[in-house]
Amino acid sequence: MKIITVGAGPSGLYVSQLLSRQGHEVLVIEEHDTIGEPVQCAGLVSSTFADTYGSSSVLNVIDGAHVHCCDVSFDLVRTGVASVLDRAAFDASFSNGIDIERGNRVDEIRVAGGSYLVSTPAATHEADIVIGADGPSSFVRSTMGFPSDITFYGACQQRVRAKGDVDDAMVTVDLKRPFFSWAIPEGDGIVRIGTVGTVSSLERFKSRFGFEGSIIDRTGGIIPVGKCSLIRGGAFLLGDAAAQTKPLSGGGLSFGLRAAEFLAEAIGQGDPCRYYHRWNAEFGREMSLGRSIRKMYENMSENDLVKVMSILAEKRERLEQEADFDMHATIARILFSTPRFYPVFGKAMATLVG
Ligand SMILES: Cc1cc2nc3c(=O)[nH]c(=O)nc-3n(C[C@H](O)[C@H](O)[C@H](O)COP(=O)(O)OP(=O)(O)OC[C@H]3O[C@@H](n4cnc5c(N)ncnc54)[C@H](O)[C@@H]3O)c2cc1C
Repeated sequence: MKIITVGAGPSGLYVSQLLSRQGHEVLVIEEHDTIGEPVQCAGLVSSTFADTYGSSSVLNVIDGAHVHCCDVSFDLVRTGVASVLDRAAFDASFSNGIDIERGNRVDEIRVAGGSYLVSTPAATHEADIVIGADGPSSFVRSTMGFPSDITFYGACQQRVRAKGDVDDAMVTVDLKRPFFSWAIPEGDGIVRIGTVGTVSSLERFKSRFGFEGSIIDRTGGIIPVGKCSLIRGGAFLLGDAAAQTKPLSGGGLSFGLRAAEFLAEAIGQGDPCRYYHRWNAEFGREMSLGRSIRKMYENMSENDLVKVMSILAEKRERLEQEADFDMHATIARILFSTPRFYPVFGKAMATLVG
């Protein structure tokens, strides 16, 4: 079959690689000239994910986090829990052997009989299947009318050569709604400092925690959180285009690549619906629970947020042992095992339905 993937991010490249191996004729169309650039990512993934998909792109290994929220602070420690990726190298590692048309933006998709005509300013290509892996602002999603209910969060990040010593093993996280601010050491005294919010809130985070140094580069991006249809005839959405991100942290690399495996398997078996069923079976519950916790997090009073964080601080040993870097439902399980959480939960629910 002829398949066109729109977008050469990690999800699009990986699914294209899997489909090429099945013998399909795959063309990836990417609007930028260089794969992996511009980098719009902090590159923090679980070490399990890094071992599976990108060990050659690992720059640094993380042993835990300094967690802050208002006046609550605690450390979570688990040796080797996470890895920091060279995101450009990671993306590029999936591009070997794939036919990629670079530097051209897909700006039209037409349905012609049983196939699709996918156009850029340079050319029109015909395909039996179109995969929209074109990121959070997906053109494929909007032009093909995929139903969706997605909230978009703007983020900004700086790479800073730190003045003074850096603890390369620990991430700093400051919970600041709607998400959090982060400082992630990538090694060699360089730290990725970012926030979901404005540059001025990023500067406030830097000065509060004393992150000083010279800025090497700046980036920004959009984090999509929500729900989206995955299939429309012979067209599919994948990765950030389908809001396949963790609702609490916004991380999308692990879910996007797992979804790529489901999609390649479904196309390989000639059973498109299998993509939705596999995605829903593995991530459906996690996604809907994550979205509910996110709503509560965004809407609860500061007083209640401090209570929740105090419970988590007390339970940090359980968090260290049980919490899963990618599947955040474990956090809810730990909270629900604490009776003190119930009044806070009740109030949050009342706010949501009221
Ligand atoms: C500031 C920030 C920090 C993040 N940190 C992390 C993190 O630490 N860990 C983590 O797991 N996730 C993180 N994420 C999320 C992660 O970057 C995304 O989930 C991931 O990049 C999604 O991959 P993707 O392949 O689905 O989409 P993308 O990486 O967005 O790739 C989409 C590609 O499509 C191309 N494209 C778009 N439109 C068109 C078009 N019309 N025609 C042709 N090409 C097109 C784009 O140029 C791009 O190359 C972060 C996101 C942001 C914004």
